[in-house]
Amino acid sequence: MIMEQAKYTYDELLNQNNELHIQLNEANDTLHAIRTGQVDAFIVKGENGHQLYTLKTADQTYRVFIEKMNEGAVTLNREGLVLYSNSRFANMIGMPFGNVLGLAFESFIPKEYKEKYTEIINNGWEEDYKEELCLLTENGEIPCLLSCNKLELDEGVALSLILTDLTIQKYNEKQLKYKNDQLEVAQNATRKLNDELEDTVKERTNELLVSREHFRLLADNIPQMTWTSLPNGQINFYNQQWFEYTKLDFEQTKNWGWKLVVHPDDLPVTIEKYNYALANGHIFEVENRYRNGDGIYRWHLNRAIPLKNHADEIVLWVGTATDIEDQKKEMERKDEFIGIASHELKTPLTSLKGYLQLAASYKKEELPIAVKTYINKANIAINKLQHLVNDLLDVSKIQAGRLEYKLDKIDLADLIFSCVENAAHIYPEIIFENDACKNYTVNGNQERLEQVLMNFINNAVKYSPDSKKVIIKTIQLGNKVRVSVTDFGIGLSNEEIERIFERFYRVEDKKFMASGLGMGLYISTEIINAHSGKIGVESEPGKGATFYFDLPLITV
Ligand code: ADP
Repeated sequence: MIMEQAKYTYDELLNQNNELHIQLNEANDTLHAIRTGQVDAFIVKGENGHQLYTLKTADQTYRVFIEKMNEGAVTLNREGLVLYSNSRFANMIGMPFGNVLGLAFESFIPKEYKEKYTEIINNGWEEDYKEELCLLTENGEIPCLLSCNKLELDEGVALSLILTDLTIQKYNEKQLKYKNDQLEVAQNATRKLNDELEDTVKERTNELLVSREHFRLLADNIPQMTWTSLPNGQINFYNQQWFEYTKLDFEQTKNWGWKLVVHPDDLPVTIEKYNYALANGHIFEVENRYRNGDGIYRWHLNRAIPLKNHADEIVLWVGTATDIEDQKKEMERKDEFIGIASHELKTPLTSLKGYLQLAASYKKEELPIAVKTYINKANIAINKLQHLVNDLLDVSKIQAGRLEYKLDKIDLADLIFSCVENAAHIYPEIIFENDACKNYTVNGNQERLEQVLMNFINNAVKYSPDSKKVIIKTIQLGNKVRVSVTDFGIGLSNEEIERIFERFYRVEDKKFMASGLGMGLYISTEIINAHSGKIGVESEPGKGATFYFDLPLITV
């Protein structure tokens, strides 16, 4: 039965214990009432229903009541021998009812309780007395509440003992204590955890403070202007340099207030790129002019990167604005120089070419073979030089916005045919596959479009050291036509693709270096843009590249 109790919950045990306490108190009250004569009748619930017993009128009834009690009841004589025992007591100690009578009650008391027992009995003879102690039974010791009361009987005085079995109550108390201890352990663990958590929070707060101060210190000590903004684009921090440069305060420039100091010509592109970055989480990069406190605009390169949390959501943008005014000026000076130098080079080159032609035709028949060879080689070198000078001139014209063209109706198949023929002449070892089958007509400048296509073809040969095949193709894409040049050479990575159309950009490859200045694709882009077209490339490193341009078709 005790084992089953172990399955009870803490609350159930608590309830059961309370119930037992109530029962014990009730039993005590009843006994008290009987002893003091307050009660002279009982209703006892038996197998045959409720029965009424009268104490004063029938001693037999009283005995039945005692028998039916849940407590052990015993009377002792002065010597401590058992004069009477109810069957419940005999049950408690596990002895046949008849054997108990005449035994010394002390024999049911464990050794260590004997002293206490003597004290209780002595007190009991004096006055009503109650105390807890243990009884020795066939199943070991059981805890009991012992109540003593002196009885005046006809036969003489006797001591009545009422024994209440406290096993379940004690067990429950033990369980309660056990559960309480467990609760305390759990509480201690929680307290410890809480303390640790508090320590961690303190530590983190401190770290945060340090890192914020770190950021501020760093931000205020770099030469660039820096800022941070919320995911919706509102600026929530500027470093000291910003305030020093703009001579404005945070209130004036917070959120979108920075628009105040951006050059009106640069504002649309700045806003467009900023909004695009915010919407797509891409790095923001734009060059624009900011007005300083003296009303002077200076060029800046703006860059901002998104800071993401573990869930990959943007929590903050961190931006910098670097002053590039001096570099821009320097660049302009270089452009100017390139413009002048290429222009100055053009005249002597043209006359050199002319003189070479004269030399080649002068007494043609008499010219020694060696001289003819030199003249040919000089012509090739001059053509290359002229090509370079023309490119340089184009670049400076583009920079000055002066690359102009006359547009005519052009048959692309013709244009491609003449370029392929030219290429086959220059590169006799290469196989050019011309797949430009249909006649597509576009509005364009023959010379400039040839320049673009020849640039593609030259690059295809130049960047394919181990391949001998180049394919030139046209396909229709809606109301556009795509002209493409495919090679099977070194190819390009995605990062390289992003930059090759920039001015003077060349891929730095230590293994493979071809001569060039990084101007061809830049000029080609400008030419195609001016034709309302689009230039592009598809490539993978080591697998070759397909450069293409799309142009609007003329519908005849
Ligand atoms: P250049 O060839 O004179 O360097 P371009 O503007 O024509 O200048 O090309 C820019 C860069 O693009 C080249 O330096 C080269 O790295 C890369 N490139 C161009 N065409 C190809 C190609 N077909 N395959 C691989 N890389 C190419």
